[in-house]
Amino acid sequence: MRLLGRWFGGRMWVFLLLAVVVFALQLLLPWPVLLTYGLLLSAAIVLVADPVRVAVLSVVCLALGAVAPFVDPAPPTGYWERYPWLLPFAILAVVLARVERDRVRRIARSVQLLDEVVEATSQPIFAKRFGAPGQPATFDLANDAWRRAVGIEDVQVRGLADTEVFSAEALAAMRPDEEQVARTGSPATFEQHLVLADGEERTYLTTIFPLLGDDAAVAGVGGIATDVTERARAEERLAAVFAHSPVPTLRMVTGGDRRTQVLDANEAVRALVGLEAVGMGADELFGVVHPQDRPMTRSLMDSVVAGASTHHDGGEDGRVVGREIRLLDAEGRVRWVILSVSLVGRPSADGEQELIVQFEDITTLKTAEAALTERALTDPVTGLPNRYAVTDRLAMALTRLVRRPGTVCVLFCDLDQFKQVNDAFGHEAGDELLAEVGERLVAAVRPEDSVGRLGGDEFVVVCEGFDDPREAATLAGRLQDGLREPWSYAGHRFAPAASIGIAFTSDPATAPGDLLRQADLAMYRAKDSGRDRVEVYDRSLDDELTAAMEMQERLRAALAGDGFVLHYQPVVLLEGLVVVGAEALIRMRDGDELLPPASFLPQAESGGLIGEMGGWVLDRALRDLAAWPGPETPPSVGINVSPSQLVRSGFAESVLEALERHSVAPDRLVVEVTETALLDRSGGGVASLHDLHAAGVLIALDDFGTGYSSLAWLHELPVDIVKIDRGFVQAMVVDHRRAVVVRSVIELADEIGLAVVAEGVETQQQLAMLRDFGCESAQGFLLGRPVPSDDPGWAARMHGSQTWGEVRGSRPRRSRR
Ligand code: C2E
Ligand code: CA
Ligand code: CA
Repeated sequence: MRLLGRWFGGRMWVFLLLAVVVFALQLLLPWPVLLTYGLLLSAAIVLVADPVRVAVLSVVCLALGAVAPFVDPAPPTGYWERYPWLLPFAILAVVLARVERDRVRRIARSVQLLDEVVEATSQPIFAKRFGAPGQPATFDLANDAWRRAVGIEDVQVRGLADTEVFSAEALAAMRPDEEQVARTGSPATFEQHLVLADGEERTYLTTIFPLLGDDAAVAGVGGIATDVTERARAEERLAAVFAHSPVPTLRMVTGGDRRTQVLDANEAVRALVGLEAVGMGADELFGVVHPQDRPMTRSLMDSVVAGASTHHDGGEDGRVVGREIRLLDAEGRVRWVILSVSLVGRPSADGEQELIVQFEDITTLKTAEAALTERALTDPVTGLPNRYAVTDRLAMALTRLVRRPGTVCVLFCDLDQFKQVNDAFGHEAGDELLAEVGERLVAAVRPEDSVGRLGGDEFVVVCEGFDDPREAATLAGRLQDGLREPWSYAGHRFAPAASIGIAFTSDPATAPGDLLRQADLAMYRAKDSGRDRVEVYDRSLDDELTAAMEMQERLRAALAGDGFVLHYQPVVLLEGLVVVGAEALIRMRDGDELLPPASFLPQAESGGLIGEMGGWVLDRALRDLAAWPGPETPPSVGINVSPSQLVRSGFAESVLEALERHSVAPDRLVVEVTETALLDRSGGGVASLHDLHAAGVLIALDDFGTGYSSLAWLHELPVDIVKIDRGFVQAMVVDHRRAVVVRSVIELADEIGLAVVAEGVETQQQLAMLRDFGCESAQGFLLGRPVPSDDPGWAARMHGSQTWGEVRGSRPRRSRR
């Protein structure tokens, strides 16, 4: 039985049962035996689909046929007569069984193939059948990938209810998708999220398709899933980067203005322009761009879209970077950004192109840059344009002359007493004065004029559009009026004043530097001719400048070689007309001639040669005195010291050193200085004089009366001799008031024990008057012209000479401190 069982498989019993029933029926019903066999063989074919087994069954049936007569109510005849079709029928059954076997094998093979394919597919695949209403669906199929995805690798899924596999939550999430497919009867793809057994959430793109039942109605669904977790994560990350990027970024589509639209904009865009950009069209979008940058931005975008950017803008792959444009935020404020535009994908068939547009906010950078530029071009003290900025404006004004003929005019202003304010009250006061002057100049000019500070106490005004250069002079007058208003600092009042030089041109080819230099020259002439004045540049100033340069060259040569000569003019006691001293006066050789100091001293001063020249004078005068030709020597020699020479540090030391070197007693040297050198009483000049005075050197105040005539503090200064200026001496004979001044000076000097020398005595009348006033000594062409030390005239005059000590000793000093 067991053998039979194995042979027929599980269906043997079905078959045997069927056989018993058929035979029983045959006994009860009078139907032909043939029908019995037919039924049994058909069943066998269907049940076993195996020709060998059907053949065996046929034999069994044939055998059964042999015993059939005993149970068959019909009278038995011969076997083959009774069953003539039995054998052919059995053969047919075997053939049919064979055919059936092949069919079943084929089906089995393709099912297996399908199974293998499904099983081997890396995408999870499943099929399930819906249950009766209220009942769970059961799985018909699920491949390895699916089982792995769900986390039930070792479980036989077929026949499992989906409630056994998924949580209620997961099922509830899937159900709508499945129901949709069941309802519509057509496949659809869904994004599904699945939380795996280990808690990991994965994302699938699942195509769900309907499975039809026997009644052609949807009886279940199948699905093929694709794990898109990584892609979804990448997309999520990208979206997060987009949303949270500090760089304002737009995603937009364009294809001509009408089709331009912002698809997406991140938070940074809102922060930048204060607007919700999503949904904006072309007009609104370009409305955010500064009007001046709009055309450029538009054509830029167009060119990117046209792919032309690669050629024109240096962009790469349809990407344009580094274009600075201005946007306007919701409040109309300007935001500077670097615009970059990149293409996303290719344009669609109807020419729509997606773009990513980024605006990097560089407003702070731009503001800082502007501040830096501003600082580089602005004078910090006055807030006015500095030298660079003013030169630049001048250059621009000159360029404009090409298109608009006219004049460009430069007014060069130099404050007159700035140095004094600075020295007396410090730099802070100086800075305040400069700021004040700047404000006053700006207030005095027209709005279109530029005022700048070149440095120090030099200001410049650049004007355009004067029809008549005289208007510039009028403006200069206005500037001076504005400056003259009193200005107070720390309780002191000043009236600032400026010397102004004007230069103008109508030639666009003029170099800005040249025009400034010309105005500067004119300003110097204004200074020279007595401060608080205005001069207009003309070509003669250039000639002066050239001459000055040439003179400086000659001075250098003279210093290097034997170019200077000292002449000595006698200083004579009016009593007996004996020599009391000789004043050294410098001359410069010019071929056979000698040039007077007036023709080269200013150039020596401006060329910075005065110190060297003064050193030469000191040395030569002492040498001449020590080796004076002839039997007698002048009791003293006087040298002229210019203010700039006096204030040099180490001046007193150099004088004392020279005296020692030439073995000349200090009281045989007279140092002549002018009042201006002593104005700054706390300065180095006065200190040097004190040192020299203390060492016994005599100090003479030269040109007394031309400066501030500070009689009041004369007694406080280290001065031994007062020299009354030639101008007073010559004017006193015709001008009573001058005569009074001369007499007062003589009396005052007498009073405080100072010696007096009247300079420039040319006439007997002057001499008589001086004698009358009680003047003790004088100098002048009448008494002796400046001549070399070897002049034979000296010998006669020297007889009976007195020293300054003797002169001063003869007169008691009363109120000298
Ligand atoms: P100063 O110190 O007042 O010198 C006197 C000037 O008056 C001299 O002119 C002299 O020749 C001139 N003089 C003398 N008597 C008469 C007169 O009766 N009538 C007229 N019209 N003039 C008279 P000089 O030599 O041309 O010198 C001019 C100025 O140059 C001097 O004026 C002095 O300030 C300056 N100077 C001369 N030599 C030197 C020097 O070695 N160093 C410096 N730093 N300055 C010098
Ligand atoms: Ca002198
Ligand atoms: Ca003098």
